Amino acid sequence: MGPIIGIDLGTTNSVAAYMKDGQPVIIPNLEGDALTPSVVAFARDDHRWVGRVARAQAVANPLRTVFSVKRRMGRTCSAPASEAVISSIKRQMGSDYVVTVDGRAYTPVEISAMILEKIKADAETFLGESVERAVITVPAYFNDSQRRATKDAAAIAGLEVVRLVNEPTAAALAYGLDIEKAHTILVWDLGGGTFDVSVLELGEGVFEVKAVNGNTHLGGDDYDQRLAGMLVQRFRDDWHIDLDSDPADQRLIRQLAEDAKMKLSTQLDVRVVLPHSFGRGSRCAVTVTRDEFEKATADLTEKMAASAQCALADAGLDPADLDRIVLVGGMTRMPAVRRLVRELTGLEPYAHIDPDQVVALGAAIQAGVLAGEVRNVTLVDVTPLSLGIESLGGLFARVIERNTSVPTTKSRLFTNARDDQTAMDVHVLQGERALAADNMTLGRFQLSDITPQARGEAKVEVAFEIDANGIIHVSATDLQTATSQRIRVDSASGPSPEAVDRMLDESRQRMESDRRKREDIENAIRAENFLHAADELLGEAAQAGPSQVIARAVQAVETGVLAVRDALAAGEAKQIVTAGEALESALKKLSTEVKTARSAATRGRAA
Ligand code: AMP
Repeated sequence: MGPIIGIDLGTTNSVAAYMKDGQPVIIPNLEGDALTPSVVAFARDDHRWVGRVARAQAVANPLRTVFSVKRRMGRTCSAPASEAVISSIKRQMGSDYVVTVDGRAYTPVEISAMILEKIKADAETFLGESVERAVITVPAYFNDSQRRATKDAAAIAGLEVVRLVNEPTAAALAYGLDIEKAHTILVWDLGGGTFDVSVLELGEGVFEVKAVNGNTHLGGDDYDQRLAGMLVQRFRDDWHIDLDSDPADQRLIRQLAEDAKMKLSTQLDVRVVLPHSFGRGSRCAVTVTRDEFEKATADLTEKMAASAQCALADAGLDPADLDRIVLVGGMTRMPAVRRLVRELTGLEPYAHIDPDQVVALGAAIQAGVLAGEVRNVTLVDVTPLSLGIESLGGLFARVIERNTSVPTTKSRLFTNARDDQTAMDVHVLQGERALAADNMTLGRFQLSDITPQARGEAKVEVAFEIDANGIIHVSATDLQTATSQRIRVDSASGPSPEAVDRMLDESRQRMESDRRKREDIENAIRAENFLHAADELLGEAAQAGPSQVIARAVQAVETGVLAVRDALAAGEAKQIVTAGEALESALKKLSTEVKTARSAATRGRAA
């Protein structure tokens, strides 16, 4: 069997690497470059371009050139069939997930497959043998359906994915090979489209991701867009040229902005010259300084600080606990980004491996581990969002907490909410909020043929399994009959990366109100349970024989029952707690009296 290669399927660029004599090495593409732009273009003569050529002809062919596909992986919505759809694959064009070129719709999976096809073909040319297996990296925030979509894209391209690895983990792996002693490292990954920050612990050959955080709405594209906006304004002011109406001009200005941005990483200012005169008789140019650019993008840079602080807090660490900072993604070459990292952590970032290549090199090492070529390295990833099911009262019952190492299997026992219930609906959810309705539905299924029993008597075990690729399986088993149902979470139903961001944000903002809501619901469930207990105990009391003490206790319980019912009907949280507590103590008293009366009766019979 041929080699397993490592592939970083990037938003902006894709990179492949393989293990050669125990070391990861980049596989150059046919053009001789390490980086293949993740760009697909459809030429008029039915020809398809992928990579550098596709990118180069984008300005002339903007409506038939597809960029930035990765964000759209695993999402299932179709775009309006308008003529401007091509650059709409970029997120700012809204929520359209299908690109239409010449009347043919392409999904992000198909576009990604075209990129992977080129990577595979170029690798085969370079290595001189057929390549059928790969380790592919995905952003730490990719959910189940996006991971599945990545595997689908690979399958279309003729590649079997032997493992999906989170990008920051792969980066740590690339740096980790020469680490002997235990290290806590922060991986700061700012690429073209996304920002991921991860805290990892490395020691004795084990790589464990302690926490992940990030922002799927933040990347080099946003910096390009800001700079493009500045350039459009300058050319309008200085040269009276409108570069913002025609798609070809927009693409041109974005390209010039990206080139200028890269130059500003090493120069203090940059002169941007238009490639043609736009009827002005001379070459039009404007100048932008690094300082101006940094000021115009300061809010973008600042956004990263909050995510990094959250990741550290989730890992239970202070910046002082970090031993090393690893930079990933072309955007980490921007001096303002490095400055922020330094300010936040007090450490000089580690960047001796090219930040564009480090993920692919790590993927190759993981491929080497799987092929048995690299030993003494184990990889432990974590799940970015909690998983669980809806429980009584619409609460979200977590089965797997976020940041749990994967692969993992965890289970929790649930019971029947009603007497003689014969089926249980399992509503599978992902998220951080207290109420089921505020989280994301991953799937639903029903466990039928449960043994009919009194409320609270059935034992249903719900088990979640996340496999090494981050794909989720959920099962529910009636422990009495061993009847079981199992699902693989429906690939179309996972949250989008934007939704994951939003959910994490909301859960942080609403932590306090969520806690109160959960408490209110739990109190209501408790009060309801007292009503059930009262029903049973009143029945027992009726059989205990005439007694004034019992009659008084029964009356107290009955009053308590009415008060709880009133409180539940009014939905008054405080009233529910007070009435619940009153009923609880009335129940205790009645229970004691019934027991005393029973033992007195037994003694009487014995005598
Ligand atoms: P990636 O998604 O990791 O391939 O990162 C690509 C992003 O890094 C794009 O937004 C590039 O414009 C950006 N980038 C590449 N080189 C530089 C540089 N020297 N300075 C600033 N940004 C860069």
